[in-house]
Amino acid sequence: MAIATALIDGNNFYASCEQSLDPALIGRPVVVLSNNDGCIVARSAEARALGIAMGTPYFKARKDLQRNNVVVRSSNYALYADMSQRMMSLLEAHCEELEIYSIDEAFGRLSRPRSDELLPWARRLRTRVRQDLGLPIAIGLGASKGQAKLANRLAKQVVNHAGIFDLSRCDNPDQWLETIAIEDVWGIGRKLSRWCRLRGVTNARQLRDMPSGELRSRSGVVGLRLQQELRGYACLPLELAPGPKQETCVSRSFSHPISSLEELREAIASYVVRAAEKLRKQQQRAAALSIYTRTSPFVPAFYSQAASQKLDLPSNDTAVLLRAALPLVERIFQPHRQLAKAGVLMQHLQSNDILQTHLMVPISEEHQHKRECLMQTVDRLNNRYGRGTIQWAACGIHTTWMMRREQLGPAATTRFKDVPTVHA
Ligand SMILES: [Mg+2]
Repeated sequence: MAIATALIDGNNFYASCEQSLDPALIGRPVVVLSNNDGCIVARSAEARALGIAMGTPYFKARKDLQRNNVVVRSSNYALYADMSQRMMSLLEAHCEELEIYSIDEAFGRLSRPRSDELLPWARRLRTRVRQDLGLPIAIGLGASKGQAKLANRLAKQVVNHAGIFDLSRCDNPDQWLETIAIEDVWGIGRKLSRWCRLRGVTNARQLRDMPSGELRSRSGVVGLRLQQELRGYACLPLELAPGPKQETCVSRSFSHPISSLEELREAIASYVVRAAEKLRKQQQRAAALSIYTRTSPFVPAFYSQAASQKLDLPSNDTAVLLRAALPLVERIFQPHRQLAKAGVLMQHLQSNDILQTHLMVPISEEHQHKRECLMQTVDRLNNRYGRGTIQWAACGIHTTWMMRREQLGPAATTRFKDVPTVHA
């Protein structure tokens, strides 16, 4: 039985999440801004139709947006991550195997039914995701990941396809492949596409049919594999379980440049707290950590500095990590610098299952257990009542450097007070 690969992808994902939780936004142009309300990073179909360009700085677009009555939202990653998880678990139930490729994209593998037709399956899945989550998706089908990617593009680009396209079972696949420019083929970088163009290979069909030896001489087995994928041979397996993380990073730009040691210390403390939460969620501990800060690269006299510390024992205990990180702050701080960004990196991560002890650092099992329970309780309270319900004093109370998010919408799936009230 033939195996098909599907690429399932949320359309305008961030904007769609905002629309899904606020019915008043449905049918209206919506844009989502990057961190610190910097640039436009997502547009609803309606905003796209107005010709609003991706990546435009907000301050430049502001007047235009107001004139067109566009709804502007700050990015709300807690909401998008939660919606993504819901979408992926729904997709998982509808595919035999699923690889989560990004926040809004997944590859699925499934057997082709006897009738050969997967369109009814795709239509059902699309309706289900729309009904349950209010999210529009596009589904591309092919014999390999490479084909599924192209099919997904055609599903979205061609209005008649209504969000679904099967490249293995369409009338004239060559003609469709010719509509896809070489630069838009998955896995073809800028250099390789330029090289292809010089050889007269300008679209996906020509790439598929060009002599393999020539492609191999330029891009080795990677290019060859891609070509085989376009020919319908599945060379790239699905990555079903991503390996454990090697590092975990938390970094943010400040809402305005900061220049005091105290503010930098608060910022680093806040990022350590967040990174420790992430470690506990990943069931990992860090054996080392680094902190860094820098000024804006766009102003003269660029400054950037980092410092690292090894831990005696790998840990995900916020207090232990704060104790290791905070003394480093003075080492990266320099007076009279307008700092624009800082970050924390948790390194040499290892699984919670490996419990190491240290001859020189005696720590009783009972004490360790108590600390773990405390951290779990803090995480549970913050999960339930919102981030910051229980906070470390080192993070500061009246912070002004926090990321700017002036247009934040409700996060009904992750914050209790945002759950909508229904009057009946
Ligand atoms: Mg998408």
